[in-house]
Amino acid sequence: MIAMPPLPTTVLGERLMTLAADLNQYTDEPGRLTRLYLSPAHRAAAEAVMRMMEAAGMSAHIDAAGTVVGRYEGIEPGAPALLVGSHIDTVVDAGSYDGMLGVLAGIVAVEELARRGERMPFAIEVLAFGDEENVRFPTNLSTSQAIAGTYDRAWLDGRDYDGMSLREALLAFGGDPEAVTQLGRDPSSVKGYIEFHIEQGPVLERENLPVGIVSAINGITRARGVVTGEAGHAGTVPMALRRDAFAALSEMNLAVERIGARDPSTVATIGMAKVAPNASNVIPGRVDFMLDVRAPDDPVRHAIVAEMVAEMRDIAARRHVALDLDLYFDAPATAMDAGLMRALETAVTGQGIGARHLPSGAGHDAMAMARLCPSAMVFVRCKGGISHNPAESITVDDADVAVRVLVDAIKAFAAHNG
Ligand SMILES: [Zn+2]
Repeated sequence: MIAMPPLPTTVLGERLMTLAADLNQYTDEPGRLTRLYLSPAHRAAAEAVMRMMEAAGMSAHIDAAGTVVGRYEGIEPGAPALLVGSHIDTVVDAGSYDGMLGVLAGIVAVEELARRGERMPFAIEVLAFGDEENVRFPTNLSTSQAIAGTYDRAWLDGRDYDGMSLREALLAFGGDPEAVTQLGRDPSSVKGYIEFHIEQGPVLERENLPVGIVSAINGITRARGVVTGEAGHAGTVPMALRRDAFAALSEMNLAVERIGARDPSTVATIGMAKVAPNASNVIPGRVDFMLDVRAPDDPVRHAIVAEMVAEMRDIAARRHVALDLDLYFDAPATAMDAGLMRALETAVTGQGIGARHLPSGAGHDAMAMARLCPSAMVFVRCKGGISHNPAESITVDDADVAVRVLVDAIKAFAAHNG
């Protein structure tokens, strides 16, 4: 086999951008991009992705849960596969790259390997998941969980806002509700999973880096709380005699902010606060609120949450208000695989780029896939860190770097996993 010379231009990035623009036409709402799981637009986009995969040299099909699966055989047909993927469902009024970037990077990378006539000692499968954004049904990463073998049949009974069950929607889409629990892969048939995704944050842009390697997907604690004080006339109750629930929560929020900021990899937010009675001339008697704390390390997260709770209770006691706190949600962090991360580091530094590691603050299909096989993620710089918005934007140059990094990482992985 004669080695092909490297491409001198950004032709791979241009190819990715062309395919992304093509996928944009498949929307459930004219004038903006909305592509919910199992909608007619999702079906059309899945078929388009299948055609893109076939044009890139893969065999492709849509599985029982709606994931598009493209396979590029290795040197020996039927070999275990390195999986590369992300999702093609979107939020309402979405951008063009959240999810699609990772699917298209896989397709263009395979297309480039096929152009060079190169095959690996393993197969490469590109996966276009369909249920990542969690918009339509009360599920969580159901399509990637199907492949990971962790699909819960009860999800089929979940209903969308129009009352349609997931089972009915899957049938209308052309899927097979009876077969979704049989999609789980044998761990011995997969080498690993790599997902490229836009960063959805400002770190890479600020540090002038096109890509970064995800160190872990953050674990999350969510709590709902109620601070109860005493409502009263804003004009007549002296300050010293007040039990202002909103003032107490304000002090608690400053403690949350201070404790959450101590470690640069942790984040903490009170993003919802509902003041009652919410009138300009009444001292707030009650505030309902939600607390969200995320960290790449579970013991660190549990420690800072415990510290926040203790300080919030102290503040409540000192201010003579009641604090009711329910830590109702705890999702562990997902570690990324060291071997795949090394292959990605080799590929990134090979492009003359520093290998920056950063945690993922958002959830991704890689969380589900990590339960099946070694998994890793790469973030690609996006303009202003903006996502879930039509203003979502990446450059051709960065798309090009992403595909090159993926191609090189696949080869670096092959060198150590023949
Ligand atoms: Zn996404």
